Amino acid sequence: MDYTPTRRPKRRHKKKTAQTVTKVILFLLGVVLGILLCILQKKIYICSKSKANCYLQTTTTERLKALNNAKIPEWVDRQFIAIDGSSRNGTELGGMNDIVIHYIGNPGTTAQQNRDYFANPDSDVSAHFVIGLDGEIIQCIPLNEMSAASNWRNRDTISVEVCHPDESGKFTEATYKSLVRLTAWLMNASMLDTTHIIRHHDITGKDCPLYFVDHEDAWTQFLEDVKNCEP
Ligand SMILES: [Zn+2]
Repeated sequence: MDYTPTRRPKRRHKKKTAQTVTKVILFLLGVVLGILLCILQKKIYICSKSKANCYLQTTTTERLKALNNAKIPEWVDRQFIAIDGSSRNGTELGGMNDIVIHYIGNPGTTAQQNRDYFANPDSDVSAHFVIGLDGEIIQCIPLNEMSAASNWRNRDTISVEVCHPDESGKFTEATYKSLVRLTAWLMNASMLDTTHIIRHHDITGKDCPLYFVDHEDAWTQFLEDVKNCEP
């Protein structure tokens, strides 16, 4: 009889402790779930607000997939060159990290002439796109394959070659307009931002695209124009 009063409170105490532990566990689970939901919501919000901001939250493979799922605009003339083992070797891109801008370096030539040159069996160079003197855009290589334009960065970049009327390498107004439009489209379609638009010069130190190497201010302005462009 003497034990009963002392044992009962002990059992009650144990029960209370178990309840408290359960409450703490449930509380912690709630906190973790809340944090996960916040992260998910923020990601969806950022992605819907601006695709470009998704860069840090996407992998190189996801960006390549997104680019290849995007519908090619009607202002792009698709004239793929044949797989020949050099200009187009048919190797798939390993990812999508940067858009590389080039200049043709052969003043006065047209986009069609350069596309046909890539297709020539003697050629071992190519680009995904060539932009002509009148602003015409020809696509030469599919967006899931490597081009032969940017040295060791061919494996994870999309290349754009640009025609120019003279030795200065400066683009015509129509060419420039198309370059801004195409670059903005590529940037959005692959969820990149302007820090991932680079010059061939930034890879190898080559004077390409010449005008944008000689005029840093023009390159800065170009990136600004791409940022503000609705392709
Ligand atoms: Zn180049």
